[in-house]
Amino acid sequence: MNPLEHLCEIAASFHARGLAFGSTGNLSIREGERVWITPTGCSLRKVAPEMMALIDMDGKALNGCKASKEYPFHLAAYRAAGERAGALVHLHCTYTVALSCLADLDEAEPLPVFTPYYLMRVAPLAVLPYFRPGSEELAGAVGAAAVKHDAMLMRNHGVITLGRTMDEAVDRCEELEETAKLWFLLRGREVRELSAAEREEIGRVFKR
Ligand SMILES: [Zn+2]
Repeated sequence: MNPLEHLCEIAASFHARGLAFGSTGNLSIREGERVWITPTGCSLRKVAPEMMALIDMDGKALNGCKASKEYPFHLAAYRAAGERAGALVHLHCTYTVALSCLADLDEAEPLPVFTPYYLMRVAPLAVLPYFRPGSEELAGAVGAAAVKHDAMLMRNHGVITLGRTMDEAVDRCEELEETAKLWFLLRGREVRELSAAEREEIGRVFKR
């Protein structure tokens, strides 16, 4: 399938499953020194390939479509992550945003390791301070975190995940949202987390 059609299918699926709502969320893919990104002010429900904005690595428009206002952090992530980033997913999905708003969030380890899949796809999850959406400060923080992290939680805002492919970025984002959901479901209960030895084994066998 054409990568833009694939991206639009994923966007619609996020909306259909309630992971994106209103006109929130934006997705992009990198193609060499150019980035295809979802347009500003448009619901992911109805984004189509001909509506996708094409920009260069300085943010200059290369076609007639206007890029999402959050494009600066997409570019910052691509610059910092190099080959690890061929695609980026940014959503305001409910459980992840709820996690990002907790005053007592443990920023060093924002989620417990309940399952091996969180370790394989998400951890270590970076926590970024709150900055105004679309601001240079936010792009700077994303760029700094993207050097090492493929998943970022933005305080009082949402999530960014990177992947070599769009499917990888999507898997990561969905795994994070489900883990955040588990965390709220299990809050206040005695929980068995993966032990240090079990984590080490996953790290060894399933190297990313
Ligand atoms: Zn956002």
